[in-house]
Amino acid sequence: MHISLSEIQKQLYNNKLSVEDIVNSYLKRINKNKHLNAFVEVFENEAIEQAKIIDVKIKQNNAGKLAGLVIGIKDNICYKGHKATAGSKILKKFVSTYSSTAVKRLINEDAIIIGRLNCDEFAMGSSNETSIYGSVLNPFDETKVSGGSSGGSAAAVAADLCLAALGSDTGGSVRQPASFCGVVGFKPAYGRISRYGLIAYASSFDQIGIIAKNINDTAIILETIAGNDDLDSTASDKPVPKYSKLLQFNKNLKIAFFKNHLKNKNLDIEIKNKTLNVFDYLRTTGHTVKGINFKLADLLIPAYYVLTTAEASSNLSRYDGVRFGYRDENSNDLNSLYTNTRTKGFGKEVKRRIMTGTFVLSKGFYDEYYTKAQKVRRLIQNETNNIFNDFDVIITPTTPTTAFKLGTKIQNPVEMYLEDVFTVHANLTGIPAISIPLGKHSNGLPFGIQILSKKFDEELLLAFADFLMRNNQKLF
Ligand code: GLN
Repeated sequence: MHISLSEIQKQLYNNKLSVEDIVNSYLKRINKNKHLNAFVEVFENEAIEQAKIIDVKIKQNNAGKLAGLVIGIKDNICYKGHKATAGSKILKKFVSTYSSTAVKRLINEDAIIIGRLNCDEFAMGSSNETSIYGSVLNPFDETKVSGGSSGGSAAAVAADLCLAALGSDTGGSVRQPASFCGVVGFKPAYGRISRYGLIAYASSFDQIGIIAKNINDTAIILETIAGNDDLDSTASDKPVPKYSKLLQFNKNLKIAFFKNHLKNKNLDIEIKNKTLNVFDYLRTTGHTVKGINFKLADLLIPAYYVLTTAEASSNLSRYDGVRFGYRDENSNDLNSLYTNTRTKGFGKEVKRRIMTGTFVLSKGFYDEYYTKAQKVRRLIQNETNNIFNDFDVIITPTTPTTAFKLGTKIQNPVEMYLEDVFTVHANLTGIPAISIPLGKHSNGLPFGIQILSKKFDEELLLAFADFLMRNNQKLF
């Protein structure tokens, strides 16, 4: 199967392959792997039509720089004229009237959007089990979860159903499934990629992320979709470096790890030991690696779940059966229309979040929960900034465990929320973070390692991640 965009493009430009061939081979594989439940819709005919057009452009030498890239998009990213349902009944029939900025920029460079990928409902979850379309199976072991919420995106890339995928990451939803499925999962700094056309979960945390097989593809996609956007006032106007040209890495870094993260009682011992092996390797190659205590580590999950549920309860108030989406047809007054639509349209986990969020924002509890969590978020940001005064990057495991068995955590929300213990930090602080595959556990499942850098220092993050991936075989 295809390994990288550069390898694909070499063949395309040597006439050894056509974009149509590539699309057809992915379509075949998607068909064969339907049972993984990664795609919720495949844009089959359209993809073939576009491939033909791009093949002509290649012959005329005027194809975009992503010609040959076949990419899937998470079902919460809007693409004009196509459904975007965020894995929810409440949006099951919703067809987007506009494209997200990320999708527009991909298409402008001749990427082909092959279909919509399964995800947890409104991106709330860590196992892809809250989707209205059902769970995604892990391609390495079909009795295990794919991770979530971008489970379809990670499973599709891992199973070679597309070369790359867009996901969204509010607390780890790109990095955690990438870790579970043995692929690269990258969340840039908050504001690096426009959120225009991304269905909102928690707006001050949400970021579109990239799932790919290698850093070069990640970098090319990032430099294409990142940057200022008049349609999203939170999109940064910082210049976007040509990341893919800046992957040469020959610096000695100061690297921090969190001793208390490694003492986390849920952390699998093999994941811990292999992470420690990486530190040893890095020391032998001239880097400085130092363990420090992240004082606020225990507050990461509580602050995250207070603030994201608050933002979700506000964002999801728009789904009322009046303007768009599912409407309960048996209600005969406005209040029962709202109540019945929302009762029937949302799943259990989404309701739990809306209720929690409404509670923490309610008069009488607002200061005790919401204001307090905002203060904690600020303290976490300050402590993180201080760390980056002394260090270039932070390394942590991506997830405490490898992919768990389907059905085992879905009944216990707290256990599920603890899956995000290492990933929410980047979203609380807005810094970029990446999970790269580290290896295989003795149970046969892949797992990743997470690297975090200063806000907007994706350049260093990607170059360092590339260095680590290229040297991965030396790590064990
Ligand atoms: N698992 C986390 C949550 O449920 C993260 C989700 C995400 O990043 N979208 O909130």
